[in-house]
Amino acid sequence: MSYQSFNPPRRILMGPGPSDISPEVLSALSRPVIGHLDPLFIGMMDEVKSLLQYAFQTKNEFTIALSAPGSAGMEACFVNLVEAGDKVIVCRNGVFGDRMIQNVIRIGAEAIIVDSPWGRAVEVDKVEQALIANPEAKFLAFVHAETSTGAVSDAKSLCALALQHNCLSIVDAVTSLGGIELKVDDWGIDAIYSGSQKCLSCVPGLSPLSFSEKAVNVIKNRQSVVQSWFLDQSLVMGYWSGEGKRSYHHTAPVNSLYALHESLVQLHNEGLENSWARHKKQHETLAKGLENLGIKFIVPKEERLPQLNAIYIPDGIDDVKVRSYLLNHYNLEIGAGLGELAGKAWRIGTMGYTAKSENIALCLSALEDALNQ
Ligand SMILES: *Cc1c(COP(=O)(O)O)cnc(C)c1O
Repeated sequence: MSYQSFNPPRRILMGPGPSDISPEVLSALSRPVIGHLDPLFIGMMDEVKSLLQYAFQTKNEFTIALSAPGSAGMEACFVNLVEAGDKVIVCRNGVFGDRMIQNVIRIGAEAIIVDSPWGRAVEVDKVEQALIANPEAKFLAFVHAETSTGAVSDAKSLCALALQHNCLSIVDAVTSLGGIELKVDDWGIDAIYSGSQKCLSCVPGLSPLSFSEKAVNVIKNRQSVVQSWFLDQSLVMGYWSGEGKRSYHHTAPVNSLYALHESLVQLHNEGLENSWARHKKQHETLAKGLENLGIKFIVPKEERLPQLNAIYIPDGIDDVKVRSYLLNHYNLEIGAGLGELAGKAWRIGTMGYTAKSENIALCLSALEDALNQ
């Protein structure tokens, strides 16, 4: 038996993530490995931190990239902030809200679930009722951009409600960061996590994370020790903020962090508002083209995410056949439906570097061809 190197084809990634990465990000990955405690690397990590503060629009001192995917960012927020017996109001309007609930349950805390229909934003009124009915709740958790359905929720109003009812907010921004308006400090978000492979267009495997001062104080004043050693952020705090005194916690994924640095430099050069506007513009072109093909969106117009277009599979069309056709004839990946929408929907991502005119045009013509076949 002999093995050969793996050489993947160049695909165009228009699914729910990972998104395409730019040539600059790709080349950053192949630079020489240096020690993760090398002064030059520490200098780069400091820049990653300030670039993430820009992307999140926050001055939070605790702003890092966790060495693990978005799911670990989610878990890090819950295991560090929530203790057994705490009450947590969790909004569920898709797959990722449900995962938040699973996190709360595993901690031995109580999840108070606020359900909203799949394909719709979280219902702010219902959340307010839950906050009123549960004055002892300590946290409000919700997903800003529900990638499973393509719906955006009103993070600003939800965080204002949390504050009004003395709850800390825990926000999933895996798909929202870089793609739509998000203002951590202005909106008063206490704990937020994201992912590297969606609108930041970096390789998968890193999770930007930011905690407000209030959240850091909750972590410092815990009664119990965090059950996960790796995700215990009180141990990581020293690793990311030491002014040259960085201590060893784990070995950072050095080259992935070069790539994140590069993708954040590109976001900074473009400008956050310009990136939001680009996602919106490309979405509008795609939406018009899809409607011309007679395809219907799952989410009402005003609640749609520009970077994740969830559409109904037309009647009589074979889900898997179309997606394989796109992959085999056009090297184009689009996403399948997830959870309740499995087999009923496609999810077309226009995230980060993928959100450009030539990709939208290709996607529309390829899809038209596939449907005709
Ligand atoms: C992708 C995604 C996650 C999980 O991120 P991974 O990097 O796949 O672990 C969590 N929440 C949302 C909303 C996502 O879109």
